[in-house]
Amino acid sequence: PGETLRVNSRDIVCGGKGLNQAVALAKAGLDVIAAGYTGADGAILSQALANAGVNTDALKTLDQPNGHTVIQVDATGNNNILYYPSTNEMFIREDIDRWLALLQKDDVLVLQNETNLVPYMIESAYARGIRVSFNPSPVSGDINDYPLAECRWIMINETEGERISGFRDPQDILDFFALRYPKTDVLLTLGETGAWFSGHHERLFQKAFSVIAVDTTAAGDTFTGCFLQAVLTGASTENALRKACAAAALAVTRPGAAPSIPFAREVNDFLHGTSL
Ligand code: ADP
Repeated sequence: PGETLRVNSRDIVCGGKGLNQAVALAKAGLDVIAAGYTGADGAILSQALANAGVNTDALKTLDQPNGHTVIQVDATGNNNILYYPSTNEMFIREDIDRWLALLQKDDVLVLQNETNLVPYMIESAYARGIRVSFNPSPVSGDINDYPLAECRWIMINETEGERISGFRDPQDILDFFALRYPKTDVLLTLGETGAWFSGHHERLFQKAFSVIAVDTTAAGDTFTGCFLQAVLTGASTENALRKACAAAALAVTRPGAAPSIPFAREVNDFLHGTSL
């Protein structure tokens, strides 16, 4: 407080979770429409989405500054993060209804928790027969009031699992979800340990691939994109889990968020070169 510090470098990179997940889904090979808002200074975001092959026609520009995060990293690697939600929290029901009308029954709405009106999005999609994949990140205080039973897939990491269930042990977290949301498939990622799938009365574990991690940003988003692409194109749960872990492992070997997310071809090459 009260001090001005000179910094050594400054980077501008694209995020947050919605953008990363849209890029991951497109790079995995799915047809993706990005829905939401950018601010007046948000051209860099729509460009990043378009570069990854995401359809940006439905994006709306608001006369507001873009949602923005400032990450200050000190010499020891510790960080301080300031987050200004802006357009991320300006969703209105009329726009959500209009965007959902672009989708057919059985299409998938991929959501995370960085926007307002998420419960409305889940309920409206469910009512139209659109399947919802929800990553409850960042976990908000009212998350247990969300209509989570209407989600087809819930994607969580250990911290999110603990915040929602109150349990630390992965099996207890999965039991919590299985009991409350029996029709929902849950993917619980455990960083460098691997990932669990729980659903259809089965539980599967995939060990993480052994790689040298340089930046774990977007590991979970990469996992989400690749897992959904695999199951939506007919892969078995076991293969989808393996592929998602492979894609996420590749992502952590590269710096950055969206740029570190691998294309399907790179994931296939990686899988063919490994015996795990
Ligand atoms: P999030 O980014 O949401 O916190 P995780 O850290 O749990 O998610 O990572 C998601 C997935 O990425 C893991 O299930 C794992 O497959 C892969 N992963 C993460 N860190 C590593 C690592 N150090 N080595 C290999 N794979 C990793």
